[in-house]
Amino acid sequence: MNYRVMLRSVFRCLRTNTVAGQRNMSQSSFAGKVAIVTASTAGIGLAAAQALGKRGAHVVLSSRRQVNVDEAVALLRSQNIQVTGTTCNVGKGEDREKLVQTTLDQCGGIDILVSNAAVNPFFGNIMDSTEDVWDKILSVNVKSAFLLTKLVVPHMVKRGGGNVVFVSSVAGYQPMQALGPYSVSKTALLGLTRALAPELAHSNIRVNCVAPGVIKTRFSSALWENEDIVDDFKRQLCIKRIGEPEEIGGVIAFLCSEEASYITGETITVTGGMACRL
Ligand code: NAP
Repeated sequence: MNYRVMLRSVFRCLRTNTVAGQRNMSQSSFAGKVAIVTASTAGIGLAAAQALGKRGAHVVLSSRRQVNVDEAVALLRSQNIQVTGTTCNVGKGEDREKLVQTTLDQCGGIDILVSNAAVNPFFGNIMDSTEDVWDKILSVNVKSAFLLTKLVVPHMVKRGGGNVVFVSSVAGYQPMQALGPYSVSKTALLGLTRALAPELAHSNIRVNCVAPGVIKTRFSSALWENEDIVDDFKRQLCIKRIGEPEEIGGVIAFLCSEEASYITGETITVTGGMACRL
């Protein structure tokens, strides 16, 4: 074979493989996988569910209110995503158990957990926060994330491995003013990620975390609905706009994918370039 013919056949091969690779990534990289995403009827959770579902996962949606679950299930079905929906307040043990049991009954196993739920019942000086505030925030944002992980891990082990992704926040690196207890709970998730990763690596389970900046959802509306705050905030960003939920959903899907097979114990910040860590 002369040099030109050889080159041509190499390029032809590359072209074929590129197309095959794209097909794998966009359509079938999660085919046969089952993904639980908590707090997934709106915002970042819904975007994560869509990102996983569009890549072929069967997604289990949940949140506290049935009406929200029904709406989100209908939306995903209209997008040809395989989906199961149930109510689950992650702060309640019986709800977490029901979520896992429903998933096993309807989907036969669990491969992915995206622990996305969080609450913030307090704005103000941290010194004014009460024991009730701390109990609520730590219980929903941190303890339930761990306890749900503990519930799903044995089922991931049965499947030969899996992925856990926690949703933290840029506030976990740099506490936000007036959001002290919430920020501390998000720092705890960075630690939880690091604590779980070595232990679960033995079971072929990767544990990672995503730390969003300000993303346009109902949760953060007090920030992005106020133009003065937005202008001030944009000054801190390289990319001069508020993020969209889909920009977090895609990163979560990446972390759960084979493309991230050598990443564990890691937190990816998705902030538009906000300076929050080296
Ligand atoms: P969102 O758009 O307001 O959506 C909140 C979702 O959580 C809804 O589906 C809600 O549905 C559900 N939910 C609330 N409390 C729940 C509970 N106890 N148990 C189960 N579901 C619950 O919020 P988001 O902005 O996407 O926030 C999602 C995650 O991203 C949170 O962990 C948040 O801390 C983090 N985050 C957000 C931003 C941001 O700028 N948006 C930045 C950094 C980090 P129901 O009302 O039906 O329960």
